[in-house]
Amino acid sequence: AKEAGRNGVALFETGMLAEAERKLTLETDLAAALENGELSMHLQLQVDHDQAPVGAELLMRWRRADGSMVPPDVFIPAAEASGLIVHLGQWALRQACLCWLRLDAAGHAMPLSVNVSPLQFRQPDFVEQVELVLRETGAPASQLIFEVTEGLLVDDLNQTIARMHQLAQLGIRFSIDDFGTGYSNLAYLKKMPLYELKIDKSFIRDTPNDVNGTAIVQSILAMADHLGLRVVAEGVETAQQASFLSANRHPTMQGYLFSRPAPLEELIRKLDEPVRT
Ligand code: C2E
Ligand code: CA
Ligand code: CA
Ligand code: CA
Repeated sequence: AKEAGRNGVALFETGMLAEAERKLTLETDLAAALENGELSMHLQLQVDHDQAPVGAELLMRWRRADGSMVPPDVFIPAAEASGLIVHLGQWALRQACLCWLRLDAAGHAMPLSVNVSPLQFRQPDFVEQVELVLRETGAPASQLIFEVTEGLLVDDLNQTIARMHQLAQLGIRFSIDDFGTGYSNLAYLKKMPLYELKIDKSFIRDTPNDVNGTAIVQSILAMADHLGLRVVAEGVETAQQASFLSANRHPTMQGYLFSRPAPLEELIRKLDEPVRT
C-alpha cells in the first residue's frame, strides 16, 4: 500500500488516497484485533425508576496494542462494510453468554442485551449459530435480548419476521434499537415478536426542556404502552431527564447518570456494593 501511495500521487488526490489507505489499514487491523485479544466487551447497566439494576447492554471495545482506543462508531461501520461484523457479532454473542454465566455465578443474574447487526442477522445460518453458542455455553436464551435496528427492515421483511419468530421460539427476546431514527412505517411493530423499544439518545437529550423532543418521547412511551412493549430510554445523563421519565410511564433507563459502560469485573464489584439509600 505504501508503494501504491508513492506511485499514485499523480493519479489520485493525496487526501483521497490517504483516506482509502486508512480504511484498508483499519479493516486489516480489525481482523487481527480479534485474534490478538484487542477486543473486549463493556457492560452498561439498565435501571428501573428506583434505580435498581434490571439488565445490562454489552458494548464492544477495541484497544490497540499501543493502548489507544478506537471508538465503536468508527470500527463498527468499518466491520459492517467489510463483512467482518458477522465474525465479530458471533464473538459478541458468545461473550454475552459467558458474561451472563459469570454474573449468575456472582449472584447477579440479569438479562443481557447484545447488538446484532443486520448483516449478521441475515446470514443464512444465523439461527443455527445462535443455537450452537447457546448449546456450547449453556446460557439460557431467555436471558438474552437481541438489539436490532430499523435497518433490518429495509429488505425482505417477511424473511426477517420469520427468522425472528424462530429465535423467539428459542426464548430470545427482541428490542428495536435507536427507535425512531430510521424508519417511518410503523406497521412492522405489529408483525414482529418484539419485547422492547429503545428510545434513541438523540430524543432523550431534548427532554424535558425542548417541547417537540419531549412530545416525541411521550408519544413513543404511550404507543409502547398500548402495544405492550417495554421501553428503554438510552443516554440518560441528567437528573432532570430521569425525573421526567420517572413521571412519564417510568421506562427502564440507561445512561451515564447511572452507570458508564465498564468491564464485567467492575460491574460485578459495583453490584456487590451494599445499596446506598
Ligand atoms: P448503541 O447500540 O445505540 O449504544 C449506545 C451508545 O450510547 C453506546 O456507545 C454507549 O456507550 C453510549 N451511551 C450510553 N450512555 C450514554 C449517555 O448517557 N450519554 C451518551 N452521550 N452516550 C451514552 P458506544 O459504546 O460508543 O457504541 C456506539 C455504537 O456502536 C452502538 O450504539 C452500536 O450501534 C455499536 N456497537 C457497539 N457494540 C456493538 C456490538 O457488539 N455489535 C454491534 N453490531 N454494534 C455495536
Ligand atoms: Ca444498542
Ligand atoms: Ca442509540
Ligand atoms: Ca445503534
